[in-house]
Amino acid sequence: AGTEVLLDVRGATKRYGGLIAVNDVSFSVRRGEIFGIAGPNGAGKTTLFDVVTGMVRATGGEIDFDGVSIVRSSVHAICHRGITRTFQKPSVFDSETVMGNVVVGAHFGSGKPWWKSLSRDPLVWDRSVEALEFVGLAERAEERSGDLPVYDKKRLMIASALASSPKMLFLDEPFGGLNDEEIDAMLALLSRINAERGITIVLIEHVMRALMTLADRVLIMDQGRTLRQGDPHTVMTDPDVVRVYLGSS
Ligand code: ATP
Repeated sequence: AGTEVLLDVRGATKRYGGLIAVNDVSFSVRRGEIFGIAGPNGAGKTTLFDVVTGMVRATGGEIDFDGVSIVRSSVHAICHRGITRTFQKPSVFDSETVMGNVVVGAHFGSGKPWWKSLSRDPLVWDRSVEALEFVGLAERAEERSGDLPVYDKKRLMIASALASSPKMLFLDEPFGGLNDEEIDAMLALLSRINAERGITIVLIEHVMRALMTLADRVLIMDQGRTLRQGDPHTVMTDPDVVRVYLGSS
């Protein structure tokens, strides 16, 4: 990773009534970096993703992406600027084909209303085919998405995200529910996305092996706040971090 800051989050805060789900969290992600976010259940990790990607409005704080403030931008505008996310649950349109799911992702990156881009933009089709090939699902393009096993659904979500040509990918627990072999395959896939595509990655992850292998830096959240951030080895062996993890299991 270079030294240029791509995403800069300062004092991000999200309140739900009396509950502060994200409480004054600051971090920055450099272009080309892989940045991990971890912490016990309910720490506020997904809410932090929701705030940065525009799915919920921040109660406070500043967020700059690629030199522009996005803290009051819509989900759509943020996606067009180059941030795409995936969700914790494999969220694909089950009754749609594998290709159909990726085309939906591709239209988001086209910058046009979907009803124009979906049918008329050859770029959307090309990008979709290319994304399926990249994740190794091209042979299954015609299959029903709902019939895919978990790892393939996850690959499909990632292909759909790639088809929107993001600068930065936000992945919510991409390793969750995978066996050891699948974890290795996902590690290799994410490394390729980062190295070959130059896409900056921010991921929430509970699978420590994955975080330790992939992440350049990690942020540990606890009860909405930043507990520690820094290089994975230092942070994950920190007594406070160990205590929070043991306490939550
Ligand atoms: P997990 O690892 O279980 O996914 P998390 O770290 O992602 O947890 P969040 O899902 O961000 O945590 O939740 C943080 C806190 O905010 C929790 O107490 C949760 O109940 C609360 N919360 C999240 N979304 C809402 C909402 N829409 N309305 C009210 N409270 C919410």
